[in-house]
Amino acid sequence: MKTPLVLVTAGPTRERIDPVRYISNYSTGTFGYKIAEEARDRGCRVVLITGPVSIESPSGVKTIHVESAVEMQKAVKAWANKADFIFMAAAVSDWRVRNSAKSKIKKNSEKVLLELKENPDILKTLGKSKTYLLVGFALETENLAGNAMKKLKSKGLDIIVANKLTKSYKLFGDNKIDVLLMDRHGASNLYKGLSKGKLAKIILDKAFSFDIK
Ligand code: C5P
Repeated sequence: MKTPLVLVTAGPTRERIDPVRYISNYSTGTFGYKIAEEARDRGCRVVLITGPVSIESPSGVKTIHVESAVEMQKAVKAWANKADFIFMAAAVSDWRVRNSAKSKIKKNSEKVLLELKENPDILKTLGKSKTYLLVGFALETENLAGNAMKKLKSKGLDIIVANKLTKSYKLFGDNKIDVLLMDRHGASNLYKGLSKGKLAKIILDKAFSFDIK
């Protein structure tokens, strides 16, 4: 049997304001990196497309570093049709700066207004015509199950990994979180207080045994 190719996105994207400033989010990349490492440990070929993070690139994984959402989309497009499994764990910025400046904006500029333009939804594009198993991630503040199911359907996913932003758990970084795993056949499982490493194993078990019909 052919060795499966697993594509993983991880980390935040950075959207440039000027040559020295950007907008981004708090993603650390931990979840995506754990998934990439777990897939590697199971003997898969792994391509990890990552935004800027402070974690070391995993050995035995082809790691492609990108900065913006548009760069991430380009790299994903180049690999998607070769992949058997795609895990989109990146926290892609929803917007980029339409009027980003070529030179550093001066502090004493009279008025600085950033105009934001929506970024492409990389995951949604991947869900349109699939030749791979597609897993999306979602961070919700309310109605976890309802919003996750809506996202699963609207983005054409096979599986969604949803976690709720609560005060009791710090979501960003390598700590224990609550996760709801749902699939397009309607099955759902709630996992409470597990590390991202343990969850990566559970998610890969589910993806590798998933009935794609
Ligand atoms: O819609 P929302 O951003 O909550 O969806 C999250 C999922 O979509 C994640 O899997 C994320 O990697 C992916 N996504 C994407 N491109 C975007 C926004 C989100 O691939 N522009």
